[in-house]
Amino acid sequence: MSTTGRTSAGMITVDRASKSYPDGVVALDRASLRVEAGELVAVVGPSGSGKSTLLHLIGTLDRPSSGAVIIDGHQVAALSDRQLSALRAYRIGFVFQQFHLAAGVPALDNVADGLLYTSTSRRQRRRRAAAALDRVGLSGRVDHRPHELSGGERQRVAIARAVVGEPALLLADEPTGALDSVSSATVLRLLRELNADGTTVVIITHDRELADSLPRQLRMLDGRVVEDRRGAAVADHDHERDDLGGVAS
Ligand code: ADP
Repeated sequence: MSTTGRTSAGMITVDRASKSYPDGVVALDRASLRVEAGELVAVVGPSGSGKSTLLHLIGTLDRPSSGAVIIDGHQVAALSDRQLSALRAYRIGFVFQQFHLAAGVPALDNVADGLLYTSTSRRQRRRRAAAALDRVGLSGRVDHRPHELSGGERQRVAIARAVVGEPALLLADEPTGALDSVSSATVLRLLRELNADGTTVVIITHDRELADSLPRQLRMLDGRVVEDRRGAAVADHDHERDDLGGVAS
């Protein structure tokens, strides 16, 4: 896993970002937050409060209508689509509730495809995919296709795909939402391990227990970050609060 030094902009800075849709829905309303490299953060809040929209902006899959998003030192607004693709390919991994694996494709190739947009040879892609599957405990399932895997195993394949490129930032949207409690615990353990190895991890979750177990929780309501809660687990870290990291106005 790569570790990333702390830049002055942190790993994620969202500064009064708004997102409205043509139908007039305001999904984000001047949301602000800051996450340092190496953090493990839960994003919670009711359905429709803007969590996925926020994660899409952080993942540079979408751009804000107004406000700024800075990821790993890069002003998203200043980057071309091609540069954004490169930023995603090399620095950001995604995990979704519904796994989003390619049907009928063996686990090894599903994971290797996580390196498609990097300049990695096919042989290297497959070699690294095998290592990533080993890391999530699935070295015995490399030839299995998604329909031959349990939900928990599918999500572990999806995590392997997300981290095969050793991203600095891992974004997970309800990663345990479709899993039983045992599989959820395994997935959470993996995400914690990746974080311990230096990956910054942001997890959207409806699971109160999961959120409460993480060192930091951002709560969203009506498109804003309304609470920024840090637990005791973070006491030995040197995270600094600043204007953006606090409660958004
Ligand atoms: P959450 O993840 O907290 O459930 P979302 O970010 O998905 O919330 O959605 C926030 C609001 O934006 C909701 O009211 C949703 O209906 C709306 N929304 C999300 N995506 C779109 C879209 N592509 N077009 C129009 N409205 C959208």
